[in-house]
Amino acid sequence: MAQQRKKLFIKTYGCQMNVYDSERMRDVLAPLGYEPADEPDGADLVILNTCHIREKAAEKVYSELGRLRPHKDAKAGTKDPMTIAVAGCVAQAEGEEIMRRAPVVDLVVGPQTYHKLPELIAQTHRARGERLETEFEPVAKFDALAGDRAVEGYSAFLTVQEGCDKFCTFCVVPYTRGAEWSRPVDQITAEARMLASKGVREITLLGQNVNAFHGAPPSGREADGPWGLAKLLRHLSLIGGLDRIRYTTSHPNDMDDELIAAHGDLECLMPYLHLPVQSGSDKILHAMNRKHTIESYARVIEKVRAARPDIAISGDFIVGFPGETDKDFEDTMQAVREINYASAFSFKYSRRPGTPGASLPLQVDDTIASERLAHLQALLTEQQTAFNRSQIGMRLPVLFEKKGRLAGQLHGRSPYLQSLHCEAPAELIGQIAEVTITDASQNSLTGRLDAKVDAA
Ligand code: SAM
Ligand code: SF4
Repeated sequence: MAQQRKKLFIKTYGCQMNVYDSERMRDVLAPLGYEPADEPDGADLVILNTCHIREKAAEKVYSELGRLRPHKDAKAGTKDPMTIAVAGCVAQAEGEEIMRRAPVVDLVVGPQTYHKLPELIAQTHRARGERLETEFEPVAKFDALAGDRAVEGYSAFLTVQEGCDKFCTFCVVPYTRGAEWSRPVDQITAEARMLASKGVREITLLGQNVNAFHGAPPSGREADGPWGLAKLLRHLSLIGGLDRIRYTTSHPNDMDDELIAAHGDLECLMPYLHLPVQSGSDKILHAMNRKHTIESYARVIEKVRAARPDIAISGDFIVGFPGETDKDFEDTMQAVREINYASAFSFKYSRRPGTPGASLPLQVDDTIASERLAHLQALLTEQQTAFNRSQIGMRLPVLFEKKGRLAGQLHGRSPYLQSLHCEAPAELIGQIAEVTITDASQNSLTGRLDAKVDAA
C-alpha cells in the first residue's frame, strides 16, 4: 500500500550544528512519509529546532509557539492533527518548562535523541501524551543517523564533534550539549565519501569545539590512538571530488602545531579560520574561564598567519560581561585593531540561568553594553569592508552554489568564505571557476568570470 505523504516544517534557530541536525531530522523522518514543507500552515509535523545560547534566542521560541497555535487549532479534530515538537538546546535545558508554558507542544526532544524521533512521534500519535527525551547518548545518535542522507547543493556540513568540557562561565553548551565527544574517523570518512559521491564539492566539519576533535582512528590504525583534527583533515583531503574543506568552531587552546601546519600545506583546506576570542582583557578572559590570555591568542594567530599568510581570520566577541569596565572594553577594541579581522560575530552578554556568569556581581548596565557593542561592530565592519575591498583586482577560485538574485547571475563563495555575485552561465553551478573581483562591499564581492578552472 502506498505510504501517505505528510508535510514536515522545520524552523531552525542558531548555529550551523542546528542546521546540520535539522537536515538529519528530515532524513530520519523521510521513511515515515514526511516531506519538507516551506511553511507551517497545513503541516502535519512542525519542529522548532532551538538555540539556547542567548536569552533572546530562547524567547523567540515561545513567540513562535504562540504564532503556531492558530495553525494547530485549524487542524484540530481532523484526521491529521498537527504535531508540534521542540528540539535542540532549549528543549534540553527547559524541557519541563516548555511543556508547562506552552501546552501547544506535543513533544520535547533533546539534541542527542533525534534518531528516536520516528518512535517518539509514533508514540505521540498513539497517546497524544507528553514525552521528554533529553538524555545524552551521542554514540547512539550518530550510529542511527550516520547512513545515507539527502543532499542539497554543493556545500555540506558534517558534524564530527559535539559537546564541550571547557565550561566558559557565560556558556550553556556544556549543559545543553553534554560532554565533549568525537565521532570515529571511519564513520566521518564514510559520510564524507557519501557526500562527495552525491556531488558535494565543499564540506565544513562542525563541532562546538571542533579542533578538540579526538576520534577513534580508522580500522587498521588502532595503534595510533585517537586522531586529532589535523590527521582527520589530511585523511579527508584524499577523498576524490572534495575540493574544499573548512571547519568550525575552534577554541584558541586547541590550535595545536599540527593543525596550524595543515593550514600551510593542505591545498583543499580553505584559508579561513573562525577563532573566537570573546574579549581583549585578560581580567575578563579569566572571569570567563577561557583559559587563554589575549597574548596567547595573538600568538596563535601569528603562527597561523606564518603558515598561511593570506588566511582570513574571523572571531566571536562578547561585550558587557560582568565586571567589564571601560578599560577592559578598550582592551578589546585594541586587540581588534591589532589582529585585524576579515569577519566577526559580536554579541551583548546574555545572562544564562544556571551558568556561573549569571550570578557574578557587577552585571553591566544594558545601555552601556549596547553602546559598547555599537562601537565594536563599527570597527569590525570597517575591517571587514577593508578586507573585502583589498581583493578588488584579484583572481579568486569561486565555488558557484546557486542562482543569484538578478537574472543571469550566480552566487558563489570565495576561498575566504565571502559571498560573491557574478554573471555566469547556470551550467557553472556546482563548479569552481576563476573570477576577477571588480567590486566589494561590507557583505559581498562582485566579479567577472575568467577561465573555468575545472569541471565536476
Ligand atoms: N566554542 C566556541 C568558543 O570556544 O568560543 C564558541 C561556541 S558558542 C556556541 C558561539 C558563540 O556564542 C560564542 O563564541 C560566544 O561569543 C557566543 N555566546 C555564547 N554564550 C553567550 C552568552 N551567554 N551571551 C552572549 N554571547 C554568547
Ligand atoms: Fe561554550 Fe565554546 Fe566555552 Fe565550550 S569553549 S563552554 S562551547 S564558549
